[in-house]
Amino acid sequence: MEKTLIILKPDCMEKRLAGAVLDRFQKAGFDIVAAKLMQLNAELLREHYAHIADKPFFPALAEFMGSRPVLVVVLRGEGVIAKVRELLGPTDSTKAPKGTIRGDYGTDVSVNICHASDSPESAAAEIQRFFRAEEVFA
Ligand code: UDP
Ligand code: MG
Repeated sequence: MEKTLIILKPDCMEKRLAGAVLDRFQKAGFDIVAAKLMQLNAELLREHYAHIADKPFFPALAEFMGSRPVLVVVLRGEGVIAKVRELLGPTDSTKAPKGTIRGDYGTDVSVNICHASDSPESAAAEIQRFFRAEEVFA
């Protein structure tokens, strides 16, 4: 069964929306198979955001992502990677339709509630980055 990694970002935690966001994923039929509260350090964030580490917005993004503990979760289900991305909506919350998680709760292109893996390859790498094998109950 497919798995994906999500991170409930600092804005989600600060707004106390963790339950609301997880509820959407659970109502879509996905199971929580790992979960951990973590404050992400600069080294981990450079690795996690390697694909955008050279962008001008990266320092501000890293500061935001490390600003408070975040909830890191592995979800499991059929088609979970694509479906979770669909439920989130596009990166820019101001362009995300109402009814999507980012459209309903996000602020802008940076402060956008939740990270989710974008492919089977990134999901596998991201799950390994945040969890030991025995921490994933799948
Ligand atoms: N981001 C940003 N400015 C941008 C693009 C992205 O601050 O112009 C941040 C935003 O928080 C986004 C994250 O970098 O969620 C990762 O970017 P990616 O393109 O992978 O978007 P996602 O996969 O999260 O939709
Ligand atoms: Mg991405």
